[in-house]
Amino acid sequence: MITDTTSIIKIAEKNRREQSGGNTPACLDRREVLRRELSTIRCGAAVLTRSEDYYYYTGYTGEDAVAIVAARSGKTWLLTDPRYREEAERTARGCEVVMWKRSPANHTGVILRKLRSKTVGITANHMTVQFLNTLRAAAPALGTPEDIGPIISRQRAVKSSGEIRAMRNALACAEKSFITARARWKIGMTEMDVKNDLEWEMRRNGASGTAFDTIVAVGPNASLPHAHAGNRKLAAGKMLLIDFGAHLGQYNSDLTRTLWLSDIPAVWKKRYNAVRDAQLAAIDAIGPGVPGSDVHQVAATVLAKYGLGKFFTHGLGHGVGLVVHEDPRLSPSWDKPLEPGHIITVEPGVYFPGSGGIRTEDMVLVTAKGREVLSSLAKDVDSMIVP
Ligand code: ZN
Ligand code: ZN
Repeated sequence: MITDTTSIIKIAEKNRREQSGGNTPACLDRREVLRRELSTIRCGAAVLTRSEDYYYYTGYTGEDAVAIVAARSGKTWLLTDPRYREEAERTARGCEVVMWKRSPANHTGVILRKLRSKTVGITANHMTVQFLNTLRAAAPALGTPEDIGPIISRQRAVKSSGEIRAMRNALACAEKSFITARARWKIGMTEMDVKNDLEWEMRRNGASGTAFDTIVAVGPNASLPHAHAGNRKLAAGKMLLIDFGAHLGQYNSDLTRTLWLSDIPAVWKKRYNAVRDAQLAAIDAIGPGVPGSDVHQVAATVLAKYGLGKFFTHGLGHGVGLVVHEDPRLSPSWDKPLEPGHIITVEPGVYFPGSGGIRTEDMVLVTAKGREVLSSLAKDVDSMIVP
């Protein structure tokens, strides 16, 4: 694990230089793969409206944009408005940066009309009906669009070496911050105090933000898998569940630890060890070619053996990258195989309404031979006690 803040910030800067810029090898390769996919499904162009997608293919780091990638020529347009002109020109180098007129959707239609595209690929779970209607009004020759969201998700799920380095860095930031901040946590502080303290520490260590709204839950609040931090106070013998991650260099980390103040009651200690066993068994099952649903099942089986099967109420894990929840999934319905380069969380949890919950979450890279656990925070039961 990288442990000093200067290194974390230096690595983030190096990654930014390597990955940001529409004419870097990373972006050119990604667009090349996308163009091949578009040709296979006979799409003339891709219209990218999700910020993580246009960053991935053009390097543009701003917001409120649309990227259009022509399948045949590879020409790429980045449409935005004057607030982002300079940022677009700096980061989407190699793309034609255009300030849209009338509206982004209308201008997209005008470009597609000039391209004489008959079919276009869009991300159907993101493009609004209003955008699509305006686009089609401006380019009436367009047929029904193809949903290329799954194609893009599959491509983004497999991380390059540069992306893996960026994610290790986002993890190092979160872990270093957790270790430093937890030494300050004590009985009487509120969930909100802990959340603010940890988030401040992550920013101090180079994070540009949090990967998601940090979950801090004390005692009974921990039975809500996505609890909101409030005024409940840390108390002796009560659990403190923290699900957190850093957003750094465009990439995210996602970790969970369940701590106890002063002492762990025996019943919770048993449950904690069961969750840990389930997590370790699931991690051991990860490898290329293994369906995500099988890995989920391994954890579910271990928890069932401890009589805790019905308290495990969510999927075991998810891909992480430019967004915190992405493909692939470790869940009963995800029967597709894992591939080298996937980075996934493994996060079994058990929840008891009214009394609390436990979750342990780590991040794992699928490798050609098996797996590598990327996170390194202690998880033996004794390390979970905050004295
Ligand atoms: Zn999490
Ligand atoms: Zn997660």
